Amino acid sequence: MPHDSPDHDHPHALLPPAPALRVKALETILTQKGLVDPAALDTLIDTYENKIGPRNGAHVVAKAWREPEFLEALRTDADAALRELGYYGRQGEHMVVVENTPDTHNIVVCTLCSCYPWPLLGIPPGWYKSDAYRARVVREPRKVLSDFGVTLDDKTAVRVWDSTAEVRYLVLPMRPAGTDGLSEDALMDLVSRDSMVGTAIASVPT
Ligand code: FE
Repeated sequence: MPHDSPDHDHPHALLPPAPALRVKALETILTQKGLVDPAALDTLIDTYENKIGPRNGAHVVAKAWREPEFLEALRTDADAALRELGYYGRQGEHMVVVENTPDTHNIVVCTLCSCYPWPLLGIPPGWYKSDAYRARVVREPRKVLSDFGVTLDDKTAVRVWDSTAEVRYLVLPMRPAGTDGLSEDALMDLVSRDSMVGTAIASVPT
C-alpha cells in the first residue's frame, strides 16, 4: 500500500497521537522526584542510538565485504539472509540492501515520517526524523551530503531511496581500500550508523 493511503498499515499510524509528550511528561515527573537522572537517560538513549543498534548493521556490512556468498544471499533475498543472523522483527520486515559503487551512492530517507530498519540500526537519530532532512535530501541530496561532510566525485550518481511501510533500506557502503587482511570485527569498526543510511562513507583504518 502507498504511504499516503489513509488506512495503510503504517506502524506509526498505530501509535497514540502524542507518545513523545507522554514520555516527556513521565520523564519530567520522575526527574522532579529525583527518581531518574536525565544525564543517565541521555547516555542510555545514546547507547541504543549509536552503539548497540548499528552494530548489527555493521556486522552485516562486514560479513558482506568478506563473504561473497553472503553478499549474493543479501542480493537474492535480504530478509532470508538477515533472518539467519537473527536480525529481524518489527520495522525490519522487507529489507532491501542497496550497494554503493564508484558509480552510485545511495542514501535513505522516509519522506513521510521516520521509517527505519530498527533491527539493524537501532532507533533513528533526530536528524533522520527532522523535517529539514526529509525535505532536503530529496531536492538537494549532494548539498545534504556535503553538510554531513561527504563530497562525492562528480561522476558518482546519487540515488535517494524513500522508505515505506513495506520496504526498509540498508546502504552497503563501499569497502575502504587497504582493508584486505582485516577481520570481521576490525571491519565492523569502520562502519558507522550514518554510513548505512548513506550520509557517511566507511572509515579508512588508522
Ligand atoms: Fe515512515
